[in-house]
Amino acid sequence: MRFQCQSGCTKCCEQQGFVYLTEDDIPRLASYLGMDPDDFERRYVYRTKNLRRLRVPRHAQCVFLKEDGCSVHPAKPLQCSTFPFWPELVDSKREWLKTARWCPGIGQGPLVNIETARGIAQTMRDANPLNYQ
Ligand code: SF4
Ligand code: SF4
Repeated sequence: MRFQCQSGCTKCCEQQGFVYLTEDDIPRLASYLGMDPDDFERRYVYRTKNLRRLRVPRHAQCVFLKEDGCSVHPAKPLQCSTFPFWPELVDSKREWLKTARWCPGIGQGPLVNIETARGIAQTMRDANPLNYQ
């Protein structure tokens, strides 16, 4: 596997889908934005018994995506920082190649050891057990 995120690209942030949040993501993002975690949650988070995710704004895929990229980059959700080493992509060559059609970073840069990729995927599994039952 080769991967190197491409400067100036935001294609993964523009894909349809949800940004699921770990419990750790919420206080980290709130602190980065100088907000109280409860206020952050009320404003940005949709939560049910079984999931936590960012609310999706009306005319974009992510409220934090701005013209010059992710406005919370240093504190972004685990789902964002671990892409494209998600379990469903690391475990499936077909899905990895399918994702490579729109992610220009896949296939670029140095080789990534499969054990490193699996370790990152496991971090996602551990942090989002409800999504990976
Ligand atoms: S689509 Fe791929 S290359 Fe583009 S920002 Fe996302 S991870 Fe980086
Ligand atoms: S939080 Fe940042 S990296 Fe994640 S989808 Fe939104 S803009 Fe993209």
